[in-house]
Order: sequence, then structure tokens, then C-alpha cells
Amino acid sequence: MAAEIISGTEMARTIREELRIGVEEFKRSVGRPPGLATVLVGSDPASQAYVRMKKRAAVDLGMYSRQIELDREITEDELLGWIEGLNADPDIHGILVQLPLPPQIRKNRILEAIHPAKDVDGFHPINVGRMAVGDPAALAPCTPLGVVEMLVRSGIQTRGRHAVVVGRSDIVGKPMGSMLLGTGPGGDATVTVTHILTQDLASHTRMADILIVAAGHPSLITADMVKPGVVVIDVGVNRVADSSREKGYRLTGDVAFDEVREVASVITPVPGGVGPMTIAMLMSNTLKAARSLNRAMA
Ligand code: NAD
Repeated sequence: MAAEIISGTEMARTIREELRIGVEEFKRSVGRPPGLATVLVGSDPASQAYVRMKKRAAVDLGMYSRQIELDREITEDELLGWIEGLNADPDIHGILVQLPLPPQIRKNRILEAIHPAKDVDGFHPINVGRMAVGDPAALAPCTPLGVVEMLVRSGIQTRGRHAVVVGRSDIVGKPMGSMLLGTGPGGDATVTVTHILTQDLASHTRMADILIVAAGHPSLITADMVKPGVVVIDVGVNRVADSSREKGYRLTGDVAFDEVREVASVITPVPGGVGPMTIAMLMSNTLKAARSLNRAMA
């Protein structure tokens, strides 16, 4: 029987409705809305589209949104100046610097300059450390947070089960492994994290009760690489050429959806799976940051 499909689009809609209430309450008690600043350097069309979606989501929830668009040639010091300004701005509770950054700018210097309390992407080393030790005050990275939320809300048990993560990036794979290994809902799993140098990837993926794939490689995971009944979460977003589409391409995940669906018990689609959950978690982190900054000032 074909796997059940978890719709990230629908789940994200429910989360947004919950957040909308939280935003209203915050506005009522504090007198101003949670504020999210997005910083975009250069004019990469994909980055522009991501920033637009984030801004739209924030405005839709009644948050204050500020979009800062900077020239591709900006220096590191100039960009740091913008970050300092946002760190000090009481209307801004969340700062997001859209990646990638141009080569003259050292990504880590910028990410470390964002005040950890406003680091809604969860990339600052302080938040990475807090998340790794299970501190609930951590602002955790939105994509793995969205995956955990999907598992928990779908009633999928992680406790004691074998979760295999494909990919070890700082923004998805590594924090994903850390969250699954942590204690509590969405955690307590036995975790294997694989990557490009892993030998015989299929021997690992076949062991998975829960398989989370974030490699950036279309159709990397095929039906023969999974065991019957596996839960598959596809984080990958890849553009593949498709002349039947107006844009000349379509988006696809890292999992060969049609064939893996016949073996799995649960699977997420691309698009409409982890993507909308990531944005919902960014909104959730912004509200969380606003509440804790407000508590700290009281
Ligand atoms: P990345 O390129 O930084 O990391 C990819 C990881 O996959 C690396 O650790 C690499 O070792 C591993 N990998 C690559 N090919 C592999 C292979 N053949 N076998 C085993 N491991 C392999 O990418 P990322 O930023 O982690 O993103 C991964 C994918 O997830 C991309 O498609 C990206 O677009 C997507 N993504 C989606 C969202 C979302 O919101 N849906 C958010 C972030 C990233």
C-alpha cells in the first residue's frame, strides 16, 4: 500500500494560525509587534524569492517586517555595521541574513555578529551549543526544527527508533542529528548521520526506521535503499530541467518519490513538505525571540 503523505503545507497553515494568536497577544501586552529583519546581499533570484516568502509570512501574521537589500559589493565591515544597528534596534526581535553571502564576506563573522537573542536562524555558536545541550532557551535552526515538528504532530514515535540522516551540513544534517539524539518528543532516537564520504550509503539507509534526507541530490534515495514501513522525510530541494513547465524546471526532492512511496509507510512531498514548515518555524522563532527579549527587558 502506498505511503501516507504528510502535507507540510497544511501543517504549516495550522501552526501559523496558532502563531497568529501569539502575535496578537504579544502586541496587546507589549504595545508593538514582534519584528523580523531580513538582510539580503546581492540579487540572486532564489535568495530574493526566499526573502520575499519570509517577509510575506511575517506580515501575514501581523509581525513587523523590515527588508534590507544591500549591494553585492558591500564590504564585511559595512555589513557588520548594519547588523550592529539591527542588534540595537528595539523594534527588531529577529535578524536573518540570507545565505549564501558573496566571497569577500566571511559568513561566520557575520553569523557570530548577530546577537544570539535575535538569531532566529539558530546559526550563532551560542545557539548551536545551547541546542546541543538541550537548553529550551536555544533558538534552533528552522529546517530541522520543522522536521521534528512534523514528526511530533504526525504522531510518529522517534523514541528508541533508528533515525538515519543523510547529509551533515551545519544548517540541516548536523543539527538534525543532534535534535533526534536529544531527549523528549522528537528525540530519544538512535541516530546515524551519513555524508558524501559514507561508504555503501544504502547499507545505512536500509537500517532506518526514520530516514531524513538532506543531500541536495535529486533521486539519491531509491526504493531498494529503504526498508518496508520506513518514515521518509525529504528535505532536499533541487531544480531539475522540465521543458513542460513555463520556467523550464521543476522542484524535486532527494528521494525518488513515486517508487519510495510504494515501500514507505509515511513520506513527505517536495514541494509542499519540509519547505513550508521551515518558514513556519522561522515565524515561531521570531515570536519566541520577541517574548524572551521582552522578558529580559522587564
Ligand atoms: P549542503 O550542500 O550544505 O550539504 C549537503 C550534505 O549532503 C553534505 O553534508 C554532503 O556530505 C551530503 N551529501 C551530498 N551528496 C551525498 C551523497 N551522494 N551521499 C551521501 N551524502 C551526500 O546542503 P544543505 O544546505 O544541507 O541542504 C541539503 C538539501 O536540503 C538541499 O537540496 C537544499 O536545497 C535543501 N534544503 C531545504 C530546506 C527547506 O526548507 N526545505 C532548507 C535547507 C536546505
